Amino acid sequence: MQISNFHFSYIDYPGKISVILFFQGCNYRCPSCHAKNLLENNESLEEESFFEYLNYKREWVDGVVLCGGEPTIQDGLINFVKKIKRKGLNIKLDTNGNEPSVLEKLLEGKLIDYVAMDVKGPEVLYNDLTGRKTNFERIKNSLDVVPQFPDYEFRTTIVPVIRYNERISFMTPQEIGETAKLIYDCTGKSNSKYFLQKFVPHKGEGALVDSRLEVFTETPKEILEEGKKLAERYSPHCRIR
Ligand code: SF4
Repeated sequence: MQISNFHFSYIDYPGKISVILFFQGCNYRCPSCHAKNLLENNESLEEESFFEYLNYKREWVDGVVLCGGEPTIQDGLINFVKKIKRKGLNIKLDTNGNEPSVLEKLLEGKLIDYVAMDVKGPEVLYNDLTGRKTNFERIKNSLDVVPQFPDYEFRTTIVPVIRYNERISFMTPQEIGETAKLIYDCTGKSNSKYFLQKFVPHKGEGALVDSRLEVFTETPKEILEEGKKLAERYSPHCRIR
């Protein structure tokens, strides 16, 4: 397992106190990514050091959050999750949804209690938003699998997009509405939790994967509010956070 870091958290698992673990490595290169230091497979911490910490904190925590990077590309994830589960803890998984077959295995094994899936945007923007040629069928499959977990949410960060003509502009309210429609079309559900998150600029050279985005301010309130109105047509539970 490529483990970068872990710590105690009150905020990363809704309603639970948790230990959050960050894996190294990701199959995407989102230009707006803040986790640049986690994208490559650098030297990692020993799995044992995580379990020692978890045992030490066991009395105070109800859950573990697995995030990254991208947890679902980790070799040995299933056995790792089983080891956590045997401690009687709830597990939340944060994923970009690129590995539906791993999600299916986790579902079959009843190994994950809460999935938070990033839906980057509408299909037409996916390659721009992920910085990779994305197999969109995988995203659709994950959108189908995720609602089968005991609890779940979808979320979209409203980022500046480097578009095909190199023009850079924030995702539009219409594109937010299309993303909500995509979720609705793939899940067949209008009652999924769906969060719109603002882009928070990280200043400083090399803070983001693509430094051209470092001059942008946080997502304008009007885009979030207008986007929420359009998203609510498909997802009445849409919230801004
Ligand atoms: S923002 Fe994109 S590149 Fe960064 S960790 Fe998430 S999926 Fe990977």
